Amino acid sequence: MHARCSVCGEPAVARVEYARKWLCGAHFAGYVEGKVLGALERYRLVERGWRVLAAVSGGADSAAMLGVLAKASVALGFRLAAVHVDLGIEGFSEASRRAVEELCGSLGVPFAVVSLPEVAGVGLPELARRARRPVCSVCGAVKRYLVNVAAAEAGADVVALGHHADDLLAYAVKNFLFQRLPELAKLGPKTESTGGLVGRVRPLYEVYKSEASLYARLSGLPFTEERCPYSPNRSVEGEVRAFLDSVEARRPGFKISLARGLARNAGLWGQGPRSPPRACRVCGAPSEGELCSFCRLTLKALGRPMGDVAREKVREAVSAIKW
Ligand code: SF4
Ligand code: ZN
Ligand code: ZN
Repeated sequence: MHARCSVCGEPAVARVEYARKWLCGAHFAGYVEGKVLGALERYRLVERGWRVLAAVSGGADSAAMLGVLAKASVALGFRLAAVHVDLGIEGFSEASRRAVEELCGSLGVPFAVVSLPEVAGVGLPELARRARRPVCSVCGAVKRYLVNVAAAEAGADVVALGHHADDLLAYAVKNFLFQRLPELAKLGPKTESTGGLVGRVRPLYEVYKSEASLYARLSGLPFTEERCPYSPNRSVEGEVRAFLDSVEARRPGFKISLARGLARNAGLWGQGPRSPPRACRVCGAPSEGELCSFCRLTLKALGRPMGDVAREKVREAVSAIKW
């Protein structure tokens, strides 16, 4: 016999083990939306009237986030737009960008694309090669910088990130194992705006990766399944993720308890992201020294700090967003 939805008795499409429920497509979608709304309220992630800029990659996770936020924006009275950073990775970036365009088009969410090749004249792989740094570490720095500038230039109150519980927990446990404790302070559901740093929130804090993907699929949200060619095949995070999943299989709901514990205690591990004390001499972004990390990176890789050019290009790009 096929399983039936615990709510309406229609054929079920998903088992939510920790809630001991079978759910049909409609009730599964409602369940995920309820979890996100619950997190928005429990952690006070957004306020009525705010301008929320969602950073979207084109993958299923951020598609799910944008889909739920589009509904929540009506219920909770905030404004929503999206930004996508085109990294200039052959094949992958084109597919990601197309997915974002389709996604935002189908949801009616205004969006801007910030293109790294347009900003810096080279794509991510070439930038990393010239900087002699690992691609993923340059990627993280570039995305953080460009999304923050986009949020500041667009007048956003907060940036929403599509990190789900599996991402956050694997990263948190890895950092605990390596005793990089200050990193844990950055992993709460939100960080406040300070100085030139726009605050960040994680609406999918308690949503599992499998739930986000199924939600995106069931809701017919456009996303790409293309994998970044630089994503590592074997990583400590991957091993931690497999371990957390094996515990979850025996103790359903374990990952949610862990996420709630992290939300409660992240602040104990340090101060979290603070606005660095100075403004970059070239682009004005918050900076520890004379130059911000993006200007230092581009100076090393390209012979010239590009923050001022980047800010100009980002300003042009986000002028497409009409809140
Ligand atoms: Fe960036 Fe690709 Fe590395 Fe992810 S896997 S951080 S998208 S370079
Ligand atoms: Zn149902
Ligand atoms: Zn700078």
